[in-house]
Amino acid sequence: MNFSQLYTDGAWVAPLSTDRIAVENPATREIIAHVPACGQADTDRAVAAANAAAPRWQGTSPAARIEIAQRALEHLLAARDDIIELEIAELGSSRKQTVAAHFEFQVQRIRTFIRLAERIPWETKLEHSTMLREPFGVVAAITPWNYPLGQVVQKLLPALLTGNTVVLKPSQHTPLTVYYLVDAFHRAGLPAGVLNLVTGRGGEVGDRLSAHPDVDMVSFTGSTSGGITVAQKALQTVKQIHLELGGKSPLLLLPGGDAAVAARVTLGSLLPNCGQTCSALSRLLVPIDRKEEAEAAVRQELARYTVGDPTDPATDIGCLSGRRQYDKVRHYIEQGLAEGATMLTGSVPPADPQGGYFVEPVVFTDVTPQMTIAREEIFGPVLSVLTYTDIDEGVRLANDTVYGLNAAVCGPHAEAVRVAKRIRSGNVYINDAPRDITAPFGGYKQSGIGREGGLVGLLDFTQTKVIFDETRE
Ligand code: NAD
Repeated sequence: MNFSQLYTDGAWVAPLSTDRIAVENPATREIIAHVPACGQADTDRAVAAANAAAPRWQGTSPAARIEIAQRALEHLLAARDDIIELEIAELGSSRKQTVAAHFEFQVQRIRTFIRLAERIPWETKLEHSTMLREPFGVVAAITPWNYPLGQVVQKLLPALLTGNTVVLKPSQHTPLTVYYLVDAFHRAGLPAGVLNLVTGRGGEVGDRLSAHPDVDMVSFTGSTSGGITVAQKALQTVKQIHLELGGKSPLLLLPGGDAAVAARVTLGSLLPNCGQTCSALSRLLVPIDRKEEAEAAVRQELARYTVGDPTDPATDIGCLSGRRQYDKVRHYIEQGLAEGATMLTGSVPPADPQGGYFVEPVVFTDVTPQMTIAREEIFGPVLSVLTYTDIDEGVRLANDTVYGLNAAVCGPHAEAVRVAKRIRSGNVYINDAPRDITAPFGGYKQSGIGREGGLVGLLDFTQTKVIFDETRE
């Protein structure tokens, strides 16, 4: 794959910008590729291509769009091994996690979008009119580094299947595997201009896309602060705004719940991507009289995880995604200690690590709700254990956050469901319930606007029009 190119107007082309971004393997610190650092000229060229292609793509039948997506999936599957090796190298996630979450799960997502696209209600008869669902036009898709392929799949498939054209800007930190996804659509015969790839920095490409008058919708996944900036720019031309943002998600262990299940679910959500998952359960709320039992369960569960070389098939947790993330996580660990939390497991990582950006999981206990580590998204393998005295306090603590992305409740089933309904977040898991790939994902409060995934996620890339026809009653 030639990472020095961009994909614009149906072809791999040289960038207009001469600036480059180095992509580092965070486990070895080796520079593995350079991608173009685009500016306004490359961005405008891509938007113009997407804009020109929009009417024709909107006019293709949903079945024709589904067929192209199916062919693209076949091309993606043919590149499976290359993609997995590259994902391990650009992100530092373990082989286990990469195969399961970064590749196979994304393939399942693509299949699900294709299947659900057949169920989109393009025309609905109302009592005296007809409601249509139509694409917005040009969608700017801006994605983060933590699931380099997955976050793109969540936007690209729904946007294309519903008839939008797309300008895609992946994170500058992990832009490489996306080239394979774009190339899969190219090989599948996607018409020119329908999908365009522009690599670069948020403040340059992302900024231009957010403000561009010919972009109709901005779908952004990333930090809450980045999302606010993008939304403010997008609002100047009243674009459709779709935001998938940060989280500080709780697992609430009820007095009658199983501490071992709580520990397994919490760590299973937090650790595999080295804590770099927006929906990670990073706060464990336990009844005060079961604190020691919960701590022991967490210790025991933690012993099942190994941190190490991401390429080793036995490794569970690889490294953090880079220096910026390492420094940030290290800072939060120091702050946890400075504010009086007790470090149950782990240690403060060295200021100047030798080799890659590896961090042993840290579990803090005696965490109080006001501490920084209980309030801010750390985005690393750091768990905060807090205690409560009764269920009302437990629910209050669960909701005591500006975020509302994910949550879990462990306890007797009927009671856990009642408590789940009181939690203000887009998803709530009961005990160790598995994820439903057809379910929408997205946040309450400062975790976002809109939903991704499932039929709801497809419909979020459409707008409604109503036709009042004089021949109808
Ligand atoms: P980030 O906000 O730094 O960057 C996300 C993307 O936006 C990147 O492509 C970046 O280049 C671009 N960007 C950044 N600032 C911009 C600006 N001012 N204007 C335009 N574009 C800009 O986030 P990140 O560090 O890449 O990702 C981590 C964050 O993403 C975490 O907060 C995590 O919770 C969140 N996240 C949320 C979800 C979700 O579905 N809710 C999923 C994954 C990650």
